[in-house]
Amino acid sequence: MEMISFEKAFETVMNTSFRTGTETVSYTDTLNRILAEEIASDMDMPPFNKSSVDGFACRKSDLGNDLEILETIPAGNWPSKFIGKNQCSRIMTGAPVPDGADCVIMVEDTELLSEGFIKFRSSFIKENIAKKGEDIRKGELVLRAGKRIRPQDIAVMASVGHTSVTISKRPRVAVISSGSELVEPDLIPGMSQIRNSNASQLMAQIERAGASGKYYGIAADDEAQTLSIIEKAIPENDMVLLTGGVSMGDFDFVPSVLEQAGVRFFFTRVAVQPGKPTTFGLHSRSVIFGLPGNPVSSFIQFEMLVRPLLSIMMGCEWKPLNINMPMGEKFMRSSVDRMAFIPVKIADDASVLPVEYHGSAHISALPEADGIISMPVGKKIFEKGEVVSVRPI
Ligand code: AMP
Ligand code: MG
Repeated sequence: MEMISFEKAFETVMNTSFRTGTETVSYTDTLNRILAEEIASDMDMPPFNKSSVDGFACRKSDLGNDLEILETIPAGNWPSKFIGKNQCSRIMTGAPVPDGADCVIMVEDTELLSEGFIKFRSSFIKENIAKKGEDIRKGELVLRAGKRIRPQDIAVMASVGHTSVTISKRPRVAVISSGSELVEPDLIPGMSQIRNSNASQLMAQIERAGASGKYYGIAADDEAQTLSIIEKAIPENDMVLLTGGVSMGDFDFVPSVLEQAGVRFFFTRVAVQPGKPTTFGLHSRSVIFGLPGNPVSSFIQFEMLVRPLLSIMMGCEWKPLNINMPMGEKFMRSSVDRMAFIPVKIADDASVLPVEYHGSAHISALPEADGIISMPVGKKIFEKGEVVSVRPI
């Protein structure tokens, strides 16, 4: 299959129509999940004219006069007295403003005269009343479907009494490592072995993307064994991620095994650096990615292709934060025929510095990086000071 551009690969992936269903959970269990319904307010907010300070509720036209104190209104109590001429009530922050009053003067701005009387000792600045319905009207939309739920959204759900919330189900994602050289991280590798770092990296990336990962272990470079793991994973998941085994080596069986399992390929080579052998296909039961075995390639291709798809599978528009910042130094590359993704650090002066990076197996480069910048096909140099777009990672 021919190599395609990153833009075409991205478009192909994002055209996948698979969407997860929805489920209904308590609002307290919705953090980082994707909202799958519109939420409206069940009441005006504030629900009554509310004092925003501790002070005295009175009439603006009486501010030059001695004012008689009628009662004290704590938050949570309803006023019992109408405020007439030259009258006031002591009121606490959050308490309802009594009828007849049109402002609340702050305690600090008043003087206690004889018992039961006060005088305003400042100049009028503002009413200090939050008017009924000024923030939100009953029936008004407060949270839109498709947003990733943050703590402040949970506060809004609480305020409007929306305690049972419909969210998108997490996509179930299988992770399979491929390679006879791999051992699990708690073992000491033999002479020709290395530890499997991609599986746990991917599981964490899946979790961060809001999906639910399941690890299926290491498939040796053996067709039958790889096929049996893939055939188990496909029906149990919405997406299957394999790492390794997609290059051109004699033992890179993943593409042929996927084909035997009934996967229809859309691309098997992308003009990106790193991550050229990234493979994408569909099975009737799930979406399949073959990611390169190199840990940096696997990480970056997950962020650039898999994560956006997971997002739209959950009904969340993919709008990554891209921050424009100047390069802190010149960056140059030798070949320009692929889109390059470059891990970068953000310096204290908010300039962008590529992290030192010896190739796609240089796993310790990524923890140094704050983000990724992309360098399009044909572009050879980023000049010092040139503004680049940083995607935080
Ligand atoms: P492959 O894509 O199978 O040709 O692997 C490319 C390189 O990535 C090889 O050096 C592999 O040893 C390495 N590699 C493959 N899978 C993993 C993994 N799960 N964890 C760490 N390195 C890996
Ligand atoms: Mg391999």
